[in-house]
Amino acid sequence: MLPVVALVGRPNVGKSTLFNVLTRTRDALVANQPGLTRDRHYGICRLGSRPFVVVDTGGLSGDDEGIDALTAKQVQLAVDEAAVVVFVTDARAGLTALDRDILADLRKRGKPLLVGVNKTDGLDEAGSLAEFAALGISTLVPLAASHGRGVDGLIEAIEPQL
Ligand code: GDP
Ligand code: MG
Repeated sequence: MLPVVALVGRPNVGKSTLFNVLTRTRDALVANQPGLTRDRHYGICRLGSRPFVVVDTGGLSGDDEGIDALTAKQVQLAVDEAAVVVFVTDARAGLTALDRDILADLRKRGKPLLVGVNKTDGLDEAGSLAEFAALGISTLVPLAASHGRGVDGLIEAIEPQL
């Protein structure tokens, strides 16, 4: 069985865009599991030295009711089966209170964590990384998923943890 890498984070940070780059597909629904529209989406990343399964997840809103609760449950299941969790953040939005809350939850799960600092295009990369360093996770990877940038660095950071 291939190891699983879960993409987790707030809505709109670029998780699905990153999923599409990693799995080289334009359609995150291609590997969709039957069920809810906010179900987990699976694909295989073959860009590194060994393949792994990538799971895209719905955005965590911090709301624990209705569809958001179902999304949170799906994220939990994705994290459970993951060998590595990539916590995806948005450098344009900067570090938010919700980022901190999500990370606090992820930490309790005990899985290897790395931070993908996305949307660094047009920004000072070092400054963005410094801001997210406050999260206290040692591996921060700068990304611009919609430009396909940083993906090699992300895979390099993931592979030793698989
Ligand atoms: P998700 O909700 O976390 O899955 O985020 P999406 O992948 O749907 O992306 C949300 C929005 O951010 C879309 O409009 C993307 O085109 C945009 N986006 C994703 N990655 C980047 C990036 O690296 N840079 C910029 N500037 N925009 C991005
Ligand atoms: Mg998405």
